[in-house]
Amino acid sequence: MAFITTSYRDTWVEVDLSAVASNVARINDIYQDQAALMAVVKADGYGHGAVKVAETALANGAKWLGVAILDEAFELRDAGIEAPILVLGRTRPEDAKAAADAGVSLTIWEKTWLDEAAKVLKEQPVHIHIKVDTGMGRVGVTTADEAVQLACALTRLDQFVYEGVMTHFATADEVETAYFEGQHEKFQTTLQQLEAEAGLPPVVHSANSATALRFPEHCTPLFRYGISMYGLLPSDDIEHELPFPLERAMSLHSRLTQVKVPAADEGVSYGASYRTSGDEWIGTVPIGYGDGWVRYHGHETSEVLVNGQRCPIVGKVCMDQMMIRLPNEAAIGDQVTLIGRQGQEEITIQETASRLGTISYEIPCMLGQRIPRCYK
Ligand SMILES: *Cc1c(COP(=O)(O)O)cnc(C)c1O
Repeated sequence: MAFITTSYRDTWVEVDLSAVASNVARINDIYQDQAALMAVVKADGYGHGAVKVAETALANGAKWLGVAILDEAFELRDAGIEAPILVLGRTRPEDAKAAADAGVSLTIWEKTWLDEAAKVLKEQPVHIHIKVDTGMGRVGVTTADEAVQLACALTRLDQFVYEGVMTHFATADEVETAYFEGQHEKFQTTLQQLEAEAGLPPVVHSANSATALRFPEHCTPLFRYGISMYGLLPSDDIEHELPFPLERAMSLHSRLTQVKVPAADEGVSYGASYRTSGDEWIGTVPIGYGDGWVRYHGHETSEVLVNGQRCPIVGKVCMDQMMIRLPNEAAIGDQVTLIGRQGQEEITIQETASRLGTISYEIPCMLGQRIPRCYK
């Protein structure tokens, strides 16, 4: 195992880039030359490290990169990545020149945005994707007429390149597909009107991971692949529909900093709400809510792995540390796995998410920058 880290810390996220490579290669095998993959690396590559994931995805056939904000695009450019990048969220029109100079494509949905951006743009045009809101209710034009107006303005003005049109599905990961199909139909109607009245741009896209895994007909010429590139399911409901197994890229580990058998009825952690029985081994783990390992993990059912066995978290999670109940003696320095595998036991991101009452997406994103990422 080769690790690249300069951290002095005994708590680390391990990212298996070969899993990312395999997840990208497997979905590309399905689409071959029919559809290009946009690797979505927003939020620091869903917490996995945007630059490393982007480089791995591009080396394995991804053609585009997707980010949420312009700052994230610049992180990739600063790392020397030259692939096309699309900012999926709103960029201020006064920042259009910065995007143009860096060759970063922007997503827009406002007519006034074009007027404002035109004022700051010089020789270098900015590449634009029009966002159509077909039912996500977040951003985008809501009528085909507005899309046509934007497209006409883009083709008329020299400061812009009419590069793409896109929408985003709200329910692609649900078993029930009626809403999804409604969105698809609305997008098709918009595309037909665009084609008739303004022309279509080269890059039309709508699919996210769930769509790419379930509905191949929606993936040409480009699909946006996020969560499943990291080996995670968009939702548990579609597990049986996967065309191939996903390989989980992230695991989270630490090492015991103290091990002891406290006397009976000793309090553990703030509030002393956990009381020892007198014959149990208590270990301390150097991770806490300051790392995004939120306090809610301290409720009864949260577990970690030590020496291949499940151990409950006991007492409140502190900012930098927490305590666990060990099944038997362990030593300072023994590895604690919070997410990942030890021997026959595995704690998945899925399990961690359901403990917290949330979705898999949120878990890797909430692990803070204070935890070093080590690459394998
Ligand atoms: C985050 C995002 C994606 C990726 O979605 P996944 O479900 O992670 O594949 C695609 N498109 C847009 C607009 C997004 O914001």
